[in-house]
Amino acid sequence: MRRHRNVKIVATLGPASNDYAMIRKLVEAGADVFRLNMSHGDHAEIKVRHEIIRQVEKDLNSPIGILADLQGPKLRVGVFANDEGVDLIPGADFRLDLSDEPGDVNRVQLPHTEIFDALEPGAHLLVNDGKIKLRVKDCGAKFANCEVIVGGVISNRKGVNVPDVTLPLAALSPKDLKDLEFVCELGVDWLALSFVQRAADVEEARKLCNGRAAILSKIEKPNAVKAFDEILAVSDGIMVARGDLGVELPVQNVPPIQKRLIRECRAAAKPVIVATQMLESMIDSPMPTRAEVSDVATAIYEGTDAIMLSAESAAGSYPVEAVTTMSNVAAEVEADPAYTDVIEATRRTSGKTVADGIVSAAREIAETTDVKAICCFTQSGTTAALVARERPRVPIVAMTSAIEIARRLCLTWGTNCVVTGNVTRFKEAVIAAVRAAKSEDLADESDMVVVTAGVPFNTPGTTNILRVAPCSEKLIFASDAD
Ligand code: PGA
Ligand code: MN
Repeated sequence: MRRHRNVKIVATLGPASNDYAMIRKLVEAGADVFRLNMSHGDHAEIKVRHEIIRQVEKDLNSPIGILADLQGPKLRVGVFANDEGVDLIPGADFRLDLSDEPGDVNRVQLPHTEIFDALEPGAHLLVNDGKIKLRVKDCGAKFANCEVIVGGVISNRKGVNVPDVTLPLAALSPKDLKDLEFVCELGVDWLALSFVQRAADVEEARKLCNGRAAILSKIEKPNAVKAFDEILAVSDGIMVARGDLGVELPVQNVPPIQKRLIRECRAAAKPVIVATQMLESMIDSPMPTRAEVSDVATAIYEGTDAIMLSAESAAGSYPVEAVTTMSNVAAEVEADPAYTDVIEATRRTSGKTVADGIVSAAREIAETTDVKAICCFTQSGTTAALVARERPRVPIVAMTSAIEIARRLCLTWGTNCVVTGNVTRFKEAVIAAVRAAKSEDLADESDMVVVTAGVPFNTPGTTNILRVAPCSEKLIFASDAD
C-alpha cells in the first residue's frame, strides 16, 4: 500500500484491536507492521489475530509485517480477581507470593521462584513501568511481604523490575520456548527478544528459530547497552525498548542511548524501532500532548526506521487516531528541509562491496536527475536495506519474489514492497520494475526510474547492475538488450 512517508509504523494488537474491521482500519490509517505481544493473550487469540492480518493483507493486496514479541525473562505479577486491578496506598502492606489465586488489595502472585531466592529485606521492587515502588520487609522462598512506598493502580500481569538485585535468569523462559515454536510454526516475519543481555542470547534464539523469522533484539537492560555492538552484529533488527530501559537505568540516560542506537543501526543497514509511550496520553484521549508529538518527531529526525504504538493501539480508546497522528507527524517532519539536511549530514560512508557502490550511485542519481523512484531487486532483502541506509530522496520500490522478504522489509525505512514473479532476464526485470513504480503511483509513462538488479538472477548478494530506465515499455523494448 502506497504510503506518503518513509518511516514505518508498528501497532501492537490487543483487546482494542482484535477484529477484522479494526485491523483493516489500522492498516488503512498507516500501520505497516503489527506486533503480537506474547506477554498478553493466549495462543488461540494470537492465532486469530494472525489469521485476520493475513486476510487483510490479501484483501488489500499489500504485504504486512508481523512481529511476535516474546516476553523474555520479564518478571510480571499474576492476575487480580477484579480486571481493573487494585489501588495500592502508600504505607500499606502488600504481599507477593507463588499462589495462583487471583490477587486483591492485600496480595498477588509473582510467579518466579528465582526472585524470591534472590530478594533480601530492604530491596526495592518497581511495578508497572516503575510507577509503583515496594520495599521488601521480610521474605522467604515463596513470598515477600512488602511496604508500599509509592502507590498507584496495579493490574493484571504488570511488569516488575528489581534494580537492586541481580537475577540469575535464562534468556528464554520455558514459556518463551513454547511461544517461539508456536509463532514460528504460525509464520511470523520478526521475532522480538525481550531483555537480551548478550550476543549469545540472540544466537540461542536464532538456532531455535532456524530461519523461520528474522530476529530483533530489544534493548532494555543496562548490560545490553554495554554489549550493543556485539548484539547488533548478530541481530537482524533492534528495538529501543524505552519502557524497561527507563526503569532499569535513570530515565535521562534513555535519549542519548536512543540516538546512538539509531545511528549504529542505520550504519549497519538493520532496521530499528523506537518504542514505548510515544503517544501514551492517546490511550484515553483523541489528542496527543505536544510533548508526545515532539517525541515522535524527534525519533523521525534522528533517522529511525520505525516508530511503535503499544497500549495506544492494543488497549486504548483511540487506536486509529494514534496511527493517524503518527502518520501525520511523519509526513510533516519528512517534508521539512531540515530533516533532509540532518539525514544527509549523518550518512556514513558505505562499505566496499559492489552492492554498496551501486546503491550509493542510485541515491546520487536520484539527487541529480529527475528520476521518480529507485526500484531494487532484492532476493534476501539486503540490497533493499542498503538502499534504505542511503535514505534517498525518492521512494524505494523493493522488488522480491519472496513474500516473506517483502513482509520483513515492511519494517525498513522507505521501502514500498512489491512481490514479483520469478524474473530471469534483465529486460523482464526492467519491465517489472517500471510496472511496479506505475502501479504504486510513483511514476507515469513519461518518467524515468532507477533499476538495480543482480545478474545472474535468483542468486542472493549479486547486485551488480544499475539502469536508468524510461517508464514507457515501448521505449524499453526499443532500447534494452535482453
Ligand atoms: P514491552 O517492551 O512493551 O514488551 O515491555 C518495550 C519496552 O520495554 O519499552
Ligand atoms: Mn520491555
